[in-house]
Amino acid sequence: MQREHYDVVGIGFGPSNIAMAITLEEEAAGLKCLFLEKEANSEWQTGLLLANSDIQNHPLRDLATPRNPRSHYSFTNYLFEKQRLFEHLNMGLYYPYRYEYRDYIRWAADHFDEQVRYSTTVTGVRALTTQAGGARFEVSTSDGQTYTCANLVVAGGRTPFVPPVLAAVEPDKLVHGVRFRTVVDRLESGQVQSVAVVGGSQSAIEIMIYLADKFPQLQVHGVSRKFGYCLKDSSPFTGEVYFPEFVDLFHDSKPAHRRRLQDDLRATNYSASDGDVLDEWYRVRYRDRHFGQQRLHVHNSVDIVSAVSVGSKVSLELMAAHSDEQITSLEVDLIVTATGFRDFGPGSHQEVCPALLEGLYPMMEKEPDGQIKIQRDYRVALQGMELGLYLNGLCESSHGMGDAGSLSLVSLRSQHIIKSIEARHAAAVGDGAIIKEEA
Ligand SMILES: Cc1cc2nc3c(=O)[nH]c(=O)nc-3n(C[C@H](O)[C@H](O)[C@H](O)COP(=O)(O)OP(=O)(O)OC[C@H]3O[C@@H](n4cnc5c(N)ncnc54)[C@H](O)[C@@H]3O)c2cc1C
Repeated sequence: MQREHYDVVGIGFGPSNIAMAITLEEEAAGLKCLFLEKEANSEWQTGLLLANSDIQNHPLRDLATPRNPRSHYSFTNYLFEKQRLFEHLNMGLYYPYRYEYRDYIRWAADHFDEQVRYSTTVTGVRALTTQAGGARFEVSTSDGQTYTCANLVVAGGRTPFVPPVLAAVEPDKLVHGVRFRTVVDRLESGQVQSVAVVGGSQSAIEIMIYLADKFPQLQVHGVSRKFGYCLKDSSPFTGEVYFPEFVDLFHDSKPAHRRRLQDDLRATNYSASDGDVLDEWYRVRYRDRHFGQQRLHVHNSVDIVSAVSVGSKVSLELMAAHSDEQITSLEVDLIVTATGFRDFGPGSHQEVCPALLEGLYPMMEKEPDGQIKIQRDYRVALQGMELGLYLNGLCESSHGMGDAGSLSLVSLRSQHIIKSIEARHAAAVGDGAIIKEEA
């Protein structure tokens, strides 16, 4: 069977690979590339709540500007083309609305329709040796197609993390925050009368405000291990974690130093929230406690010690952080976890590599501690094979805070990857080996 061969195949067409497509067009137009996206279009974080919430990133750290401030695909040019540059600037918003940024990302993606197969899920990846002694990836998709390529850029987004204590809860009673919009119909129909929102992230707070506002009869329980919902660290000094130089520093650090940096900088993006959102949630709850129905509850400083189904409900036991004997029981119809994502690593809250690549895991080069070795150019070398396997937007544990959790560096990251592909190609041509077109 004749299979289509590409220089570059990208898995996923979210912001990371959209930035890749832009960089390919602007800096490496000669490479033949294809992107495979499981959704019907490129909607940024389909589960996101859009109602009036804003993004958390300076809008000029967009899909192109930090790499090429003159790019057609900048957020500024998007506003210009939509004829609302002056009106937008006149609003004086530091952070734009999420629905505006969602539309910007979709607008940028729509330029690349000819290079993207939408509604196409990648189901398998194999590394093959060719009769000529070379190597290539074989990528299989849900529609029965296979594609081959010399370079694979994996940008499928991170795997949601669900705390193990909740793992046995039936799927219809548990939803991760990234898929929150999938349960809105059930909330609207009145089937769900009580919800526990687990976690202390900004998503958790936004979901609780949304539930409080849209569903006046709903019982809402916020459940968090921390004493109080925390303010995001927005110091301009720690904000330099989103500078390109930080990636070099972090990547070159020893594991112990990386851990120290991670602990130090965690509140810049995780388990914390912007002040406007926290203030809003505090006020909404205050009004409910003193002038409303007392249906918004906060259970802070607790660990969930058990979660079992009781009929149509889930019964949770919450143990207070200050006393092993103080247990509170809670029954709800639905649990929403806003508990983050799995990064790469050996911990129970981590994963060794993306699930889709598990077949390649034995061949991946490893660090001395057994973790997969992700090079500065985001490449994972496969032993004995000259292939370009790149992880785009998945590398918080090796490249630092923001690699997966922020749009800040998507444009520069794609440039690193493309330069690496080109450099390897040039080296291979010099050696007489072929890594680009190997049809
Ligand atoms: C709720 C939320 C809010 C965020 N808000 C902000 C913010 O305000 N500012 C900011 O800077 N960053 C934010 N981020 C962080 C980051 O910018 C986003 O996570 C961003 O979407 C990452 O882009 P991505 O392309 O790497 O991954 P994703 O956006 O997750 O895109 C991955 C794509 O791959 C597709 N895919 C997955 N598996 C397959 C497969 N097997 N086959 C084919 N396609 C597949 C998915 O359908 C998806 O379209 C947020 C993250 C989350 C989760």
